[in-house]
Amino acid sequence: KILVVGSSNTDLIAKMKKFPKAGETIEGLSYMQAMGGKGANQAIAAHRLGGDVNFITCLGDDANGQNTLKYYNEEGIDVSSAIIVEGVSSGTAMIFVDEQGENCIVITPGANNSLSPDYISIMEEKIAETEIVVLQMEIPYDTVKTVCALAKKHKKTVILNDAPARKLDEEILKTVDVLVVNEMEAETISGEKIESVGKEFVLEKLVSMGATSILLTLGKEGSLLKKGKISISMDAFKVEALDTTAAGDTFCGALAARLSKGEEWHEALRFASAASAICVTRMGAQPSIPTEEEVFAFLSE
Ligand code: ADP
Repeated sequence: KILVVGSSNTDLIAKMKKFPKAGETIEGLSYMQAMGGKGANQAIAAHRLGGDVNFITCLGDDANGQNTLKYYNEEGIDVSSAIIVEGVSSGTAMIFVDEQGENCIVITPGANNSLSPDYISIMEEKIAETEIVVLQMEIPYDTVKTVCALAKKHKKTVILNDAPARKLDEEILKTVDVLVVNEMEAETISGEKIESVGKEFVLEKLVSMGATSILLTLGKEGSLLKKGKISISMDAFKVEALDTTAAGDTFCGALAARLSKGEEWHEALRFASAASAICVTRMGAQPSIPTEEEVFAFLSE
């Protein structure tokens, strides 16, 4: 079982030739609306890629919140512990994607900021029932810290994706079993620039700061796992990238799903790389997250 504690957003996605400048109005090429938010994306990814997922998230008492609940129920994710907060809007993300597949995003967290440690009893009950706890940084810092501590108390595996990038204190780093970071996130936590000191140095620094295992994702260059003396380097699959939104989320969800199935690291990483490679060939966040069958088909091509 996997417990994801994190954000939900409704994504409003516009595709355009070039991003507008300040004060400029441009005509977009296409528009679509989809469910997103790093927490929700990772919950969906873990579910589609073979995991049994429970998702704790905070929603507003608005239409977006109701649609979100209905959608996750229909997808087959357990959202029975989702929290509805009165008088607050559900989270939204306005996403611009240009012709190169680059993105530019404005997030209004709304109810995601209401997921506070006050809901500790709901969380502890669910943590006790799960094996793997998955977290990101789109909910209050103290909540992430509380969940990490509770997960450790119950001897569960914690996967933390430090996205959006935030500096993490030693207490959090020590309670996390797998810290998943892209280059920018690794630089934010370590306070070092990869370009000047190199990847190895940054990874060592994160270990010296308390991290036990670090999974560094490197976009189309693949990923690198450092776990004690073990180091695994995984190339990315060669694909034509259309939109990289949710690549990291697909990667984290895939990893949780495969580890929950008892797969070894190498196998889990290869699967996660394939899943996120498929993701970048498609538009949007959740619509681009593949299923387990699609990943197996891709891997056997
Ligand atoms: P984030 O989306 O969090 O910035 P990355 O860009 O590092 O994370 O992407 C996460 C993973 O997705 C990478 O480790 C890689 O396996 C896969 N990926 C990302 N971009 C590409 C790409 N252009 N081609 C193939 N795989 C990719």
